[in-house]
Amino acid sequence: MKIWDIVIVGGGPIGIACGLEAKKLGLSYIILEKGCIVNSLYNYPQNMQFFSSSEKLEIDGIPFISIEAKPKRNEALEYYRRIVTSNDLNISLFEKVNSVTKTDGNFQITSDKNKYLAKNVIVATGFYDLPNKMNVPGEDLKKVSHYYKDPHFYSSQKLAVIGASNSAIDAALECYRKGAEVSLIIRGPEVGKRVKYWVRPDIINRIEEGSIKAYYNSTVKEITENHITIKSPQGTTSLENDYVLALTGYMPNFGFLEKMGIHLSQDEKKLPQYNPETMETNIENLYLAGVICGGMETHKWFIENSRIHASMIMDNIKKKLSSKLSF
Ligand code: FAD
Repeated sequence: MKIWDIVIVGGGPIGIACGLEAKKLGLSYIILEKGCIVNSLYNYPQNMQFFSSSEKLEIDGIPFISIEAKPKRNEALEYYRRIVTSNDLNISLFEKVNSVTKTDGNFQITSDKNKYLAKNVIVATGFYDLPNKMNVPGEDLKKVSHYYKDPHFYSSQKLAVIGASNSAIDAALECYRKGAEVSLIIRGPEVGKRVKYWVRPDIINRIEEGSIKAYYNSTVKEITENHITIKSPQGTTSLENDYVLALTGYMPNFGFLEKMGIHLSQDEKKLPQYNPETMETNIENLYLAGVICGGMETHKWFIENSRIHASMIMDNIKKKLSSKLSF
C-alpha cells in the first residue's frame, strides 16, 4: 500500500491551508473530508456574515475580495472552493475518517471508503459537528434544531431561540424580520459580549422596544409539542411555542481524539495536548490544526489566528525530513 507523507483529516479552511503548504513542499498528501469542500461553512446559516474581514480569512496570501469588508458565507464558499480547484488540491470528499492508529512508525487511517498509510497525520476536524446539548426533556423533538439555516421557514411561527452568542442573535433578528414571534432565552444576565459590534445594538434595541421578548438568567426546563417551559428569576413560565432553535454552541469530537491517543486536559476545557510551537500532539508525527485545538474553548481559535498552523506544521515536518537526509 502507498505510504503518504501526510494525510489531512478535514477539508475546512485550515485543512485546505495544510494541503496547500504540503503541495508547495512537494510532499505527497491527501485531504479526507466527510462532506463537501469547507463543509462547516457550507452548513452555516444561508445569510451569515463573518465577524472577520476578508483579508483575515485569506490563506497562503491568496487575495479574498468581498463586496463588503466582512464577507458573507457565499463569498467564503467561492473563495475556498476556487483555492481547491485552481490549485488542484488532492482532496477526497464525502469520505469520513473513522480511526487513526499508529503501528510500526506509520499511521493507518481508516475511512468509510478506504484505508491509508501515512508518515504524518494532521487532524483539522473543527468543532461544528457536535452541538452542546441542553439535556432537557423534549430536546429530541422534530421541532427543535441545533442548527439554523434560513428565516423564511419560521415566518408567522412562535419561535424560541436559546443562546446569547452570534449564532443565536443573528437567528433571532433574521427570524423576527421575517415575521416570526421570537422569544430569546438567555442563560446569563445579558446579550453576549462577543456578539458582532454592529449587531449588538440592533438586538438590544429590538429587546428594549419589545419586538423580541428576552428572558435573561433563564434556562429551559422542558419542551413539548406546543410549549417550552423556562425557569427564570421570576419563576417557571410556560410559553406557547412552535419551534425551538437551541443555538448553544458546539464542541469538538473528543472521542475521536481520545481514540487516537491524544491526551486531553482533565478540566472542563478538555484541551488537547500539543506543542504550541510545532502543533505536534503527544503522539509523534500526529498534528492538530485549526479550531479543534481549543477544546471546549471554541471561541479561542478562528481562521485568522489558526491559519498559521499550516506553515508551523510544515516547517516541523520539513525540519524532520532534512535532519533525516543529513544522516
Ligand atoms: P472547520 O471549518 O470546522 O473544518 C473542519 C472540517 O472537518 C469540516 O469540513 C468537517 O466536515 C470535517 N470533518 C470533521 N470530522 C471529520 C472526519 N471524521 N472525517 C473527515 N472530515 C471530517 N471564524 C473566523 O475566523 N471568522 C468568522 O467570522 C467566523 N464566523 C463563524 C460563524 C459561525 C456561525 C461559526 C459556527 C463559526 C465561525 N467562525 C469564524 C469559526 C470558523 O468556523 C472556524 O474558524 C473555521 O471554520 C475553522 O476552520 P477549521 O478548518 O479549523 O474547521
